[in-house]
Amino acid sequence: MFIDIHTHIAQYKQEEIDNIINRWRLSNIITVVSTGTTVEDSIISIELAKKYPDILSGIGLHPSDIKDTWKSDLVSIEKLVDENVVMISEIGLDYMPDSPLKKIQIEVFEAQIEIAIKYKKPIVIHIREAFEDTYKILKKFNGRLPIGAVHYFDGNYKEAKLMVDLGLYISFAKTLIRKDYLKDVAVNLSLENIVLETDSYPQYFKKNRSRWTEPKDVSMVADELARIKKIDIKDVSYSTLKNSYNLLGVKD
Ligand SMILES: [Zn+2]
Repeated sequence: MFIDIHTHIAQYKQEEIDNIINRWRLSNIITVVSTGTTVEDSIISIELAKKYPDILSGIGLHPSDIKDTWKSDLVSIEKLVDENVVMISEIGLDYMPDSPLKKIQIEVFEAQIEIAIKYKKPIVIHIREAFEDTYKILKKFNGRLPIGAVHYFDGNYKEAKLMVDLGLYISFAKTLIRKDYLKDVAVNLSLENIVLETDSYPQYFKKNRSRWTEPKDVSMVADELARIKKIDIKDVSYSTLKNSYNLLGVKD
């Protein structure tokens, strides 16, 4: 059994969602977090979580999706927080050339960490080309920083360790299967610090629909982790479930 801590199920067409859910249920995936990137799909995530017992909802403003309305969007995100919301996700910094202004990204990121602290929710963090600034911000919150995970981890062991030392989990996706430097991180990290995800979203650029990543594929990430750490898949299941429950604030 596995939990997928980070997906974008809310972005699929409604008529596809039931099939995707059936496929993950057949693959022993017991819980999937639907993550928001805007106010609109945060609302859809909450609705999905109310409708399906194995979906939990995260809400947040993704750094790449920040709009001119970000100030009022932050107010809307805070209003959406209630017992149906399990995490503030996904939030963070994205320094690609066409990303929103860094100054605004930092303000939105910090404001959402404050929301997480105020409502005692975990955070799931997106980092792209922005490790240093992200680390600096998280470090500032040290002592007050909520539990959380660095999603789609794509750094080196030193960076992973800095995040772990802040009390965060490292979340691996399917990139673990093809990137050697990530295998190196995973081999050196304790299982106690690892959670799993797929970051699934509709991949229209892939012509062959069966090749789209879906939450059912989180078991492929788990298999790879067992293989490279030379441990039993049952141990990967046990630890990642325990860590995910801890992250989600659910007693197992
Ligand atoms: Zn994502």
